[in-house]
Amino acid sequence: MTTTADNSPIRPAEDRPVPPMPSGLLLLDGRLVEALDPDRRIDSIDPATGRTIATIPACGKEDVDRAVQAAHRCFESREWQRMRPLDRGRLLERLALLVEAHREELAALESLDSGKLLAVTRAIDLQFTIDGLRYFAGWASKITGEYVAHSPLVPEDAIYRAYTERRPVGVVAGITPWNFPIGQAIQKIAPAIAFGCTVVLKPSEETSLTTLRLGELILEAGFPAGAVNIVTGYGAEAGAALVEHPLVRKIAFTGSTATGQRILAATTTTMKRVTLELGGKSPAIVLADADLDRAIPGAAAAIFSNTGQICTAGSRLLVEAPVYEDVMAGICDIAQSLRLGSPFDAATQMGPLISLRQRERVAGIVDRGLSEGATALAGGQAPGGDGWFYQPTVLGGVSRQMTPMREEIFGPVVCAMRVDDPSDLVALANDTPFGLAASIWTRNLDRAHLLADRIDAGTVWLNTHNVLDLTMPFGGNKLSGLGREFGSEAMHAFTEPKAVCMRLDPGAASF
Ligand code: NAD
Repeated sequence: MTTTADNSPIRPAEDRPVPPMPSGLLLLDGRLVEALDPDRRIDSIDPATGRTIATIPACGKEDVDRAVQAAHRCFESREWQRMRPLDRGRLLERLALLVEAHREELAALESLDSGKLLAVTRAIDLQFTIDGLRYFAGWASKITGEYVAHSPLVPEDAIYRAYTERRPVGVVAGITPWNFPIGQAIQKIAPAIAFGCTVVLKPSEETSLTTLRLGELILEAGFPAGAVNIVTGYGAEAGAALVEHPLVRKIAFTGSTATGQRILAATTTTMKRVTLELGGKSPAIVLADADLDRAIPGAAAAIFSNTGQICTAGSRLLVEAPVYEDVMAGICDIAQSLRLGSPFDAATQMGPLISLRQRERVAGIVDRGLSEGATALAGGQAPGGDGWFYQPTVLGGVSRQMTPMREEIFGPVVCAMRVDDPSDLVALANDTPFGLAASIWTRNLDRAHLLADRIDAGTVWLNTHNVLDLTMPFGGNKLSGLGREFGSEAMHAFTEPKAVCMRLDPGAASF
């Protein structure tokens, strides 16, 4: 038993597992070390209980400098420059095997630190991590440039040969958020290594434990000293020091739009390469001809999975009028029946938010929406008890300008809107400063593709939502970011093209 009728959680304390904690040491220059000031620590809190489970180092500027210097030394070293691409790939494969061997332990640690359901961390987060390592291991040996044909500007009597190659960009700073901690760490580390860069990773201060444990496994996998370095700490201190460090050549950032904007502003003079994976306000669009047996649970999962803490969450539900009542009844039913509780209880369907601060933010936006005239058709409150839980919430009666329709909430809150005139669909879907993702639920292929063409977003899903596929480019338009990760786009994100052009002497040979 994990819930009451109003979703308030009941969690037996004895169900908390105690996975082995990481040493709490940083991975710097191929060694596990203390931060320079080992007494400066940050509490790691279990969001399901509010209890402190560990502390992590709060790194300062000097720690970051040590990590970047190590990454730079490794990048410049003969060993790294001469390493065969296949051997860089093998490092990632070895790490994949180690992560696989420690899957249960890492899944439990992730659930304890982040509040994500154990069934999910085990089946999705850890699988994504292992797959990501293997996927990018394959890329290491598939980096290609192009042969470039003669330009019309080249004189007729000259013979030129020209080609392009892709060179690693240099030291990469990876900065990650708290919603997919270990998966995001690999999303930065694996392509950086595959494409010949070295990397310093700073996980979110809310959820650093699996990344610290990953550091221990990276050491075991035998990466050259300095190829991967891990520092922990606050964004404004350790994160900003990474962004500002002169030896960092690229920042691969995933997090909020506000932080992304700060990072972009800080790089205008240095022109560091930047990829930004930021926030969203993605629509889930249910057309009148949708298969509602799929669309209703699909739209509910789009917003309530991971307690709504997914950048691509379907937080605006746009439903064509003929099916609006049915869809709303179905979504509200699901919202009211979801079992909140311990991430370690197999019966739990939704865990807590990451922190008290995040819960206050979610509650604040919902309350603002209610005061602007929206109606809570389901949920709308934090249940009693320990931990940072919030009820699955459906807001109706919303208009385009209301706060919950415009701001990324990053919680289990969906704003539902009836669409009376189909010709309004495109404008409504695109009426947001974000452009990360959208889903369209329909049985009509023509409508699906014609609407998908008009959606201003990096990803459009048809009859599904939140499918992250490593083979597909991922990223956002407008305030949702800059650049793309995954797929062949990752090669462009972690390398610089170089043109090499040679003039041949036609008299050098007699044939
Ligand atoms: P956040 O921006 O607060 O923090 C992200 C990371 O940036 C953390 O490691 C933090 O310490 C660091 N940071 C904070 N200030 C910094 C600064 N001044 N300089 C350098 N680093 C700094 O984001 P969050 O609250 O951890 O994560 C939630 C956000 O992440 C949401 O907006 C969500 O949409 C977004 N997100 C986007 C994607 C995507 O792929 N588009 C994926 C997951 C999460």
